[in-house]
Amino acid sequence: MTLKDTLREAGIVGAGGAGFPSYMKLAEGADTLLINAVECEPLLYTDYILLRERMPHILRGAAAVMKEYHIPRAMVCMKQHTVEALGLEDGAELAAHVTLKQLPNVYPMGDEISMIYEATGRVVRPGALPITAGVIVFNAETACNIAYAAKNGTPVTDKWLTIGGAVEKPLVVCCPVGTTVRELFAFYGITVPEEHVVLDGGPSMGKIIPWQTAVVRKNTKALLILPKNIPAVVSKMTGIKAAINRCGSNCCQCTRCTDMCPRNLLGYPLEPHRMVRSVTTVAEVSPEMVKAATLCCGCGICELAACCQGISPKMIIDEFKKILAKNKLRYVAEEDVTPSPDRAYRVLPSDRWASLLGVSAYDKRGERDNRVISPEAVTIYLSQHIGAPSLPLVKEGDTVTKGQPVAAAAEGLSVPQHASIDGQVTLVDHEKIIIERV
Ligand code: SF4
Ligand code: SF4
Repeated sequence: MTLKDTLREAGIVGAGGAGFPSYMKLAEGADTLLINAVECEPLLYTDYILLRERMPHILRGAAAVMKEYHIPRAMVCMKQHTVEALGLEDGAELAAHVTLKQLPNVYPMGDEISMIYEATGRVVRPGALPITAGVIVFNAETACNIAYAAKNGTPVTDKWLTIGGAVEKPLVVCCPVGTTVRELFAFYGITVPEEHVVLDGGPSMGKIIPWQTAVVRKNTKALLILPKNIPAVVSKMTGIKAAINRCGSNCCQCTRCTDMCPRNLLGYPLEPHRMVRSVTTVAEVSPEMVKAATLCCGCGICELAACCQGISPKMIIDEFKKILAKNKLRYVAEEDVTPSPDRAYRVLPSDRWASLLGVSAYDKRGERDNRVISPEAVTIYLSQHIGAPSLPLVKEGDTVTKGQPVAAAAEGLSVPQHASIDGQVTLVDHEKIIIERV
């Protein structure tokens, strides 16, 4: 079996982002493998703990990819504060042909396109995949999962994540995929105070979840408990109608949102101020300008760092993205682009970003909690990844063991799902499989 088939069979998807199936990233033609351990968002320490406790696995995963695809070099990318906390140095040789690459403490350094530029000096052509620039990128946890799968086909059944925010001390834990957030919090003694919400993900790009019913997914990197009144949460609670109204009445077209956009600073034709203007001035709309919405990485800088009028260009762009996705449209550049000469002066320091989000007070380094939860039940969603939902292989009443496939990959872009505990299947429907411990 090829490594690509192994990754697909093991159900490996990006562990720290949108859940892109990892097998689809594997292709011939790369000369550089990047392991993304930069922990892009404030309050997250999952990568730091993995680097500290699972470095051999991360390196084995990298070696498996390098060997199969004849990639001559790899870099494990970390921010300066992580390098220092681990007692390592920029440029350190971590394994044969694998070095440590220290990247600056700026946001959004975990954005694949920004990271590739900082680590290699290459700009991925707008709309193209990293492989076109000779680069493959995997998250540190994904590299661990590749190591397990490459060794003996072990599938993804467990998830590492940070439990942070308004907690006594942030924890990094590992639990079965599909564990309910409610049971997880109860096990680790975490409470959610009044007037607080729970985010799945970081304070910038995470989503507010109904934590009483939500479960840990394959791409859950953090569960953060945050007050409702900080900018990071207020912005997520603002509706699209209010966002559109503000565009018309408040935007002074200062272009600050475009000037600070990390993708625009790399030369991408993404201009959030024009997206905002297009909401009220239809004459401004051109197909290429709208399609450029697909180049947005969703960092939120235009909304929380750039705009002083309370406008969210990001929210407008998200609406454009939905329409474009429905119509299968995206921006693809025909020519290379070059970064702005001002980029070095306009990048946003991570500390400043944490302050703008209102989360600086919660930024304490997370520590590993070794207690292992054995949940009473897990919910395995059929769509925990980008692509077609998986197809159930089991029926109610079936007995399953941990690691057993319970849903097959669908046609096209898709991955299978596996039981994350031993137990009995008690529910199968169009979106999930519930397994209860017996
Ligand atoms: S920063 Fe705000 S006011 Fe300025 S152009 Fe962008 S949306 Fe308009
Ligand atoms: S969210 Fe705003 S700043 Fe970030 S990439 Fe998108 S348009 Fe640019």
